[in-house]
Amino acid sequence: SDEEEEGEEYLFKVVIIGDSAVGKSNLLSRYARNEFNPHSKATIGVEFQTQSMEIDGREVKAQIWDTAGQERFRAVTSAYYRGAVGALIVYDISRRTTFESVRRWLDELNTHSDTTVARMLVGNKCDLENIRDVSIEEGKNLAEEEGLFFMETSALDSTNVKTAFEIVIKEIYNSVS
Ligand code: GDP
Ligand code: MG
Repeated sequence: SDEEEEGEEYLFKVVIIGDSAVGKSNLLSRYARNEFNPHSKATIGVEFQTQSMEIDGREVKAQIWDTAGQERFRAVTSAYYRGAVGALIVYDISRRTTFESVRRWLDELNTHSDTTVARMLVGNKCDLENIRDVSIEEGKNLAEEEGLFFMETSALDSTNVKTAFEIVIKEIYNSVS
């Protein structure tokens, strides 16, 4: 019935992965709280933030997980990935090594997930055009090869941050509704 449909809950787990210092925590704080921290430090313990959006007149919630800096030790745990139906795989457009790590992160995501995961490749720090080390074309090509959405973002100036998260959340919603 209509009542049952209205009462339906949509809560999707989305994880953010990628090398250290690519801007994962700032992408989340920009999206969830419209905040940017130029001196952000890794926090202790796994953290997530819940953010709502409206799709087709329904409230859809995303529980977005941020690593607590464990990616430095290449030891993001399986608990982090458990139940995730969406993922942002982030690199820093001004540091090629972080782009070269993307395939490893995709492998790890693959290893730990047993369902289809809506995946977005995110080239963050696009405000740093003057020291760009990875072209937009390279990002697009990798995304195409791996079947990922792609977007360049800046947590600093807010470019595409909301859009990147919302494309992933809409894709998840479309696949379950
Ligand atoms: P994480 O380790 O991936 O969570 O990265 P952080 O969010 O902690 O960011 C690492 C550093 O990059 C911090 O000094 C941030 O202020 C900076 N940073 C994050 N996003 C951006 C961005 O879009 N542009 C610029 N210029 N710096 C950023
Ligand atoms: Mg962080």
